Amino acid sequence: MPEIDRKEAVTVVGAGLVGSLLAMYLARRGYTVEVLERRPDMRREVIDAGRSINLAISTRGLHALRQVGLEAEALKHAIPMRGRMIHSAKGELTYQPYGKDDSQHINSLSRAWLNKFLMTEAEGTGRVRIRFKQRVTHADFQTGALMVHDEATGETRREEGRVLFGTDGSGSAVRQELDRVPGFHASNEQLGHGYKELTIPAGLGGAFQMEKHALHIWPRGTYMLIALPNEDGSFTCTLFLPWKGGAVSFETLDTPARLEAFFEEQFPDAKKMIPDLVDAFFSRPTGSMVTVKCAPWRVGGQALVLGDAAHAIVPFFGQGMNCGFEDCVVLDGLLDKRGQWEDVFADFERLRKTNADAIADMAVENFIEMRDSTGSPRFLLEKAVEKVLLNAFPGEFVSRYTMVSFSRVPYRLAYEVGAIAGGIVSELSEGLTRAEDVNLERAGQLIRGRLVPFMKEHADGFRTQG
Ligand SMILES: Cc1cc2nc3c(=O)[nH]c(=O)nc-3n(C[C@H](O)[C@H](O)[C@H](O)COP(=O)(O)OP(=O)(O)OC[C@H]3O[C@@H](n4cnc5c(N)ncnc54)[C@H](O)[C@@H]3O)c2cc1C
Repeated sequence: MPEIDRKEAVTVVGAGLVGSLLAMYLARRGYTVEVLERRPDMRREVIDAGRSINLAISTRGLHALRQVGLEAEALKHAIPMRGRMIHSAKGELTYQPYGKDDSQHINSLSRAWLNKFLMTEAEGTGRVRIRFKQRVTHADFQTGALMVHDEATGETRREEGRVLFGTDGSGSAVRQELDRVPGFHASNEQLGHGYKELTIPAGLGGAFQMEKHALHIWPRGTYMLIALPNEDGSFTCTLFLPWKGGAVSFETLDTPARLEAFFEEQFPDAKKMIPDLVDAFFSRPTGSMVTVKCAPWRVGGQALVLGDAAHAIVPFFGQGMNCGFEDCVVLDGLLDKRGQWEDVFADFERLRKTNADAIADMAVENFIEMRDSTGSPRFLLEKAVEKVLLNAFPGEFVSRYTMVSFSRVPYRLAYEVGAIAGGIVSELSEGLTRAEDVNLERAGQLIRGRLVPFMKEHADGFRTQG
């Protein structure tokens, strides 16, 4: 078993969000880190940052940045989103706060800015070298050798074995190599929906054309539109539609006239604010979303996959990156406790796998909630009741959303506690028309009878993971 040598050189495959942050964590501990990145350097060449233009960072991701001194700078570029703004087909607006008060909010951040920032900060440690246009094509876990294709010269070379971290995203080449490891299994579930990004530009003088501090949602059953604010006053909208079939899908919206009629009927307020709707819709790529579950995540003390490479999830809880950043925190904590890579990797998988599976399942469930329920009166009532309980029973009542987004409680526990809390809210909402009328005495009995004992029983789990 390789002993951990703090001056050792290690290789990270992929300088995306997780790979860049991981490099920073490893460098801080004294490792020399070589990062191999397939794409050109986005700080020097104009390239698509990939996936979404902006994303939501919340407590777990911010905690990971704080540990390496990067949170304050990131927050300077972030826009707090304090709740959901629901847009009806008639253009009526309903606002639902995310937490018990405004201190509980998520933050919209530019993906490209964050990735560039993390790369620069990692390199700034003096121990990280990011090599661009270097695509890993093959990893031999017997010898530890890597085959790397230089996209600039067209040559392929062999790199000698070092400890390897695969942070090469949902289509991970490193994970594919794990397929050769006996007992490895992976499931790769494509969502039946794709997504298209559209832009609501800033208004006059850089003004936001809608409420700035909200995540906007147009829930419409089998499809939905969402929008997150950007620093420059614009919003990035994401339209989620089934790939094909049904009355509305990417397949059926095949002409400008159909697209415009669809937006006019379903998203009339958004349509007025997207001047280049037709051009953008037909010229921009349609993204796909996948849930990847696999095991094992490691080969002895030689290789480990993290981030989307180990556990890609659909984006509806805004947690993919947050979860990957939390991976870095957990791995870092284990480096304090364990003296051998093999033990670090085994503990890492044991701690993270169940939590990654839990957030993967919650993300799929949240998709159904966002597109189907967020607009329904019952959902709005339950969210309002939840807020009353959060304020009336601090420290006793918790909701799934607040645990996932505003705490570092392990995702698995958030899933289980959230199910109990959700059942209580549902029961108390029965027959109510206004959240203010919720029976607090009954609420107290249910919370102290069901939720508090469960939380006490799992008190250890509530002590966080990193
Ligand atoms: C539409 C959408 C919205 C999202 N919104 C959110 C959100 O609001 N909040 C949130 O927390 N998460 C969100 N996510 C999830 C988030 O994007 C991912 O979880 C995050 O990007 C994972 O980071 P990563 O570094 O593991 O992978 P990636 O960001 O995919 O980075 C992988 C890197 O590896 C490189 N690479 C790939 N293959 C190779 C190879 N063979 N050799 C060398 N380099 C390679 C790639 O070029 C890339 O730079 C969203 C995802 C989508 C699709």
